[in-house]
Parts: sequence; structure tokens; C-alpha cells
Amino acid sequence: MNDILIIGAGVAGMAAAEYLTAAGCRIQMVDKAGRPGGRCATRRVTPDTAADWFDYGAQYFTARSQTFRISVDRDLEAGRLVHWQPRINTAEPLGGTWLFSPSPDDRERLIGPRGMNHWVRDRLAQSGLHVACERRANALRRGSDGQWTARFDSGAPISASHVLLTPPASQTRALLAGDAKGIDVLDAAPRAMAACHSLVVAAPPIDGVDAIFFKSGKLSWAADNTTKAGVTRDRHLWTLHASTAFSTDHEDRMAEDLAAAMLAEFAAATALSVTDMEVVRARRWRFARPGSGAPDEDQRFWVDPRCRLAIAGDWLAGGRVEGAWLSGRGAAARLIGDV
Ligand SMILES: Cc1cc2nc3c(=O)[nH]c(=O)nc-3n(C[C@H](O)[C@H](O)[C@H](O)COP(=O)(O)OP(=O)(O)OC[C@H]3O[C@@H](n4cnc5c(N)ncnc54)[C@H](O)[C@@H]3O)c2cc1C
Repeated sequence: MNDILIIGAGVAGMAAAEYLTAAGCRIQMVDKAGRPGGRCATRRVTPDTAADWFDYGAQYFTARSQTFRISVDRDLEAGRLVHWQPRINTAEPLGGTWLFSPSPDDRERLIGPRGMNHWVRDRLAQSGLHVACERRANALRRGSDGQWTARFDSGAPISASHVLLTPPASQTRALLAGDAKGIDVLDAAPRAMAACHSLVVAAPPIDGVDAIFFKSGKLSWAADNTTKAGVTRDRHLWTLHASTAFSTDHEDRMAEDLAAAMLAEFAAATALSVTDMEVVRARRWRFARPGSGAPDEDQRFWVDPRCRLAIAGDWLAGGRVEGAWLSGRGAAARLIGDV
């Protein structure tokens, strides 16, 4: 029986774990965070379970490929996923003002009914998969016997015959150190992913608008979480994402430092007042989206069956939740010789 260590329990790690378990492999899965899900991140305003929740990483996803579609349909049937149909507008600056137009796109958007993070956690629970959290791997070495050993900031090392890595490119390269030499997808690791600054802001609702795609400027996206969580109050929780250009220009700055500029742009575009807004959460996703050094999305994953090493993650598959899922599943199948 194959004995496989999966590092990272985001969507790619989850898809790999599901595939490998179904194939009869023995897996161990670790994540440095306090809970699985990675960039599918949902939190509450306060720890109180009745408090409002918000998604501040991935907002929704789409399912285009047939394999992912089958899996998504199962989740829809089981209530682990629901459709989200926000009234989306596009916003673009025009002669000192902002032009809002209803977005013509009517694609299917999928979300977890209790947030994106719960979709991952519900799936892991449904498959009986356990994740050892708060285990940050800091080194991975292959011994002369071919066994891999991962070391962690705390706790005992883990040895396994096979390893599947899903952290962002530069973290994967750091973990492998000298063993990363010759792995071409890691050559441009520092540029493989771009940053995104994210704010969650308590602000008034906007009449007839649940989400906004910004065509240019400092922001790329704003969404009223109330339309997902179903809570209606005077102040709604808006998630704001900075544009790739703005975040790349300020990639070393924390989200708190950029909050004033992002709020001012949101206020200018929506005609809300900054004085009616309060930042609830600010986060810089250092590795948010595929960057200029990301491999072509057809790469999807990297596997060396001889060394029994696999590398997966959205950055190898064009970004997005679906890319991460296809990457993790594809890497798992190749690692055990199914494809
Ligand atoms: C702001 C933002 C908005 C987005 N919006 C969308 C969207 O609307 N739709 C969409 O489809 N996608 C969106 N995405 C992208 C989507 O979130 C990702 O494509 C997907 O979640 C990536 O999954 P993954 O498993 O490849 O990586 P991750 O989710 O990053 O998982 C990697 C995991 O590895 C763990 N890890 C890292 N290093 C170590 C280590 N040393 N030891 C142990 N564990 C480690 C991390 O904690 C993490 O859990 C968005 C992302 C961001 C940041």
C-alpha cells in the first residue's frame, strides 16, 4: 500500500487526498494553518457562532470541466454547495465619475452555503479525511533509501514513501531546497504568484447591486456577503479585493496600509461615504493568483514517479478553485501511476 504525505490542505490537497484514499492509499495530510481550506477562507466577525460570516479569499467558483462538474453536481445534491446569483455590476471610471452597468454575464456561480471554507471542510469530513493542522513543514529531504522525511516547526517529523506538495511555488521550492534543482516549474517560483490585498468592510447596502467587477483602478472586486449569508442589517459586510496591478505595485505593504486608498476608491465608485465604513478585516494574500512566472495552465501539475514526488496547486493550472482541484487530482493520479 502506498504511503503518501500531502502537504497543504487547500482545494488541491483535498482533491488529491480524496483521489488517493479512494484508490486505497494510506495518506497523511498536514497544513500550517489552524484549519484546512487555504485560500477558500471564511471567517466570522466575532468567534460567536451566530456572528455574521464573510468570505475574504475565493468568492465563488465555476465548473467547466467534465470531471469537476460530476464532483460539483454531487455536492449540489448533498447541499455542500449552492448556487449564488448576485446582481453583478461592472464599474469603470469615466470623466471624473464612475459608470455602473449590469454585468451581462450569467454564468453559474457556486459557493458553500456556510462559506467557501466550509465547502472544503464539509468535503473532507464527508470523506473521513483528517488534517493535522498547525503543522508548518520547513524541510523535506529524500534519504538514501528513497524515503521522504518532512520536518516541522514543532512536533515529530513524518516519513513517507511518496510526497504531494501543494503550497505556493516559492514555499514549495524553499521546502525542497537543493532537491528543487532541475524542477523546471519552480525556476520562476518567486514570480509564479501575485499578491492581492483584501479588506472586509462594514458599509451600507447598495441599491440593486450585490457585487461589482471593477474594470480598472485600485480595486478588482467588491461583494456584499449579506447576499450569501442571508443576514440583512443596516450595515452589510463587503469584501473588497485590490486589482492585480495595484497589489503588485504595493506587494510589500500590508493591507492595513492600503485600506485608506482602497476605501476611498470604493466610496468614489459607489457614492457611499468613507465615514459610513469600518474595516472589519484586512489581509494581504502574498500568494493569491498566478503571476508572471506561472507555468502555462496546461502544465496542471508536476510529478516525478521515480522520486515519488508530486507538485500541485492552482498556480500550475491557471489559478482558481477549479484549477486547484484538477491539479491536485491529476497529480495524485500520476503519482500512483493511474495515468
Ligand atoms: C483574494 C482571493 C480571491 C480569489 N477569488 C477566487 C474566486 O472568486 N474564484 C476562484 O475560483 N478562485 C479564487 N481565488 C483562487 C482560489 O482561492 C485558489 O485558486 C484555490 O483556493 C487554491 O487552492 P490550492 O490548494 O492550490 O492552494 P491554497 O488554498 O493556497 O492551499 C495551500 C495550502 O498549503 C498550506 N501550506 C503552505 N505552506 C505550508 C507549509 N510549509 N506546511 C504546511 N502547509 C502549508 C496553506 O496553509 C494552504 O492551506 C481567489 C484567491 C484569493 C487569494
